[in-house]
Amino acid sequence: MTERVAGTTSLRFALVLFVVLPLSLLLIAGTYSVLRMVESQAEQRMKDDVELVARTLQQPLSRALERDRLGTVEEALASAFRIRRVYSAHVYDGDGRTVAHIGRRDLFVDSDRVSDIAGAQSRRGEYEEISGQAVYSYFAPLTSSGGRSLGLLHITRHAGEMEATIASLWWQGGGLLALAILLMTGLVLVAHHGAIGRHLNRLARSMATVEQGNRAHRAPTGGPREIARLGEALNTMLDSLTQVEQEVEERRVAQLALEQQLKHTEKLAAIGQLSGGVAHELGTPMSVIDGKAQRALRAEDLPEDTTEAFVAIRAQVGRMEKIVRQLLDFGRRHTLQIREVSAHQLLHMAEGVVQQEAARHDVTLEVAATEADRTCALDPALMERALTNLLRNAIEATPGGTVRLSYTAARGNATFCVDDDGPGIDPSIRDRLLEPFFTTKDTGDGTGLGLAVVHGVVEQHGGRLEIRESPLGGARFSLHVPQRVSADGAPPPTASAPVYSA
Ligand code: ADP
Repeated sequence: MTERVAGTTSLRFALVLFVVLPLSLLLIAGTYSVLRMVESQAEQRMKDDVELVARTLQQPLSRALERDRLGTVEEALASAFRIRRVYSAHVYDGDGRTVAHIGRRDLFVDSDRVSDIAGAQSRRGEYEEISGQAVYSYFAPLTSSGGRSLGLLHITRHAGEMEATIASLWWQGGGLLALAILLMTGLVLVAHHGAIGRHLNRLARSMATVEQGNRAHRAPTGGPREIARLGEALNTMLDSLTQVEQEVEERRVAQLALEQQLKHTEKLAAIGQLSGGVAHELGTPMSVIDGKAQRALRAEDLPEDTTEAFVAIRAQVGRMEKIVRQLLDFGRRHTLQIREVSAHQLLHMAEGVVQQEAARHDVTLEVAATEADRTCALDPALMERALTNLLRNAIEATPGGTVRLSYTAARGNATFCVDDDGPGIDPSIRDRLLEPFFTTKDTGDGTGLGLAVVHGVVEQHGGRLEIRESPLGGARFSLHVPQRVSADGAPPPTASAPVYSA
């Protein structure tokens, strides 16, 4: 956070600049004036000390001089010197000659100056240089009891000693000030980190994580309210972004599926058209062949092998006609011929069509219509064709078994079910069941169009085909269609995939 990003100052730097710096300047100014005050007080105190010594000595020295007692003068000076605040002390007589001294001998003033100061009869103190030494001199006149000038007391104190004391004061003050500024800077930085910095860093790390592509990541929403709000705003933005991306992805997938369905439908339509065309062209020649074979069979005295040949021709033509019919069923889109028909009637019509086939395969056909007397409005011919296709498949899948055709209706929806107890649908072929021409039967036995036709019929009725396991053990094909389909009301074919259920 200390680096400068895009010309902006870091928050830490701003805090130091706008908080620590002004506070430091205030502190420096405050400390300076306090130190100045303390300095002048200390200096004054040191001067006062010297003055006090001088005042204390002034009386006894005056008296001793008046009585000419040199010994007493020296004693008094010695007692003053013991105080240790004094550098030197000189006592001058009225002519400016040194009468007695203690401490540094050379720190005396000349007689003219002594006469001047003694004559003025007033105390005074001043900084000066004597014999190359910086001192603070204090002069106190010595007078007789009658007021006559007897001499002068001159006390000095080392100026350097005072300066050193004051300098140490400045050093101590400055050191404390620097420490205070350092502490303050540290406190501000620690407070910044604790209250703002670490939360902002966490937010920045979250943003970096998202930027690196982890779109599932969400920013932590702890810390001060303002930063928590930032985190929440970021998360809301990410949520919206994810939602939009999901929507776009869903739309893309749906569009892809639609395109594939469209392609599939177009493919089926093309196949249907082609098959229909071929079947149509084959219809007439096959009728001709069958007719001619039929007529030839009517001739008398036909050799047995010729009769057998014509019968075989008719059987094969019959198979071809079946295939052609399925091709035509698949290729043509019939216009729905909606009629009221009883479900019961429809089931029995379909049963009638496959009865012989069932008998041939030794299959028991059951018809169960719980609400058989209810009528439906649909295209009976197409529905019958769909049901017979399913019944044929079931019969072929379960020789010697049971096939059940049933009907139920509920809430406006009709369901036709064909169940068998055969082997069921192998999961590996489930997805291909409705593909035109897909068959598992031997060549010639299956065209692979039966279920494609069923699917087409159900779609035309606006319904759906469901394939699942039968309670009988085999497969169950259910046709769910509206109970009442209007002639033009059926939704357009959706090419919907069949629904598989386990
Ligand atoms: P085809 O009957 O000419 O083969 P279909 O489209 O009617 O064509 O059926 C496709 C395939 O579905 C069949 O070959 C068969 O494998 C499977 N099938 C259809 N009905 C059943 C059923 N009831 N039981 C088992 N498999 C079935």
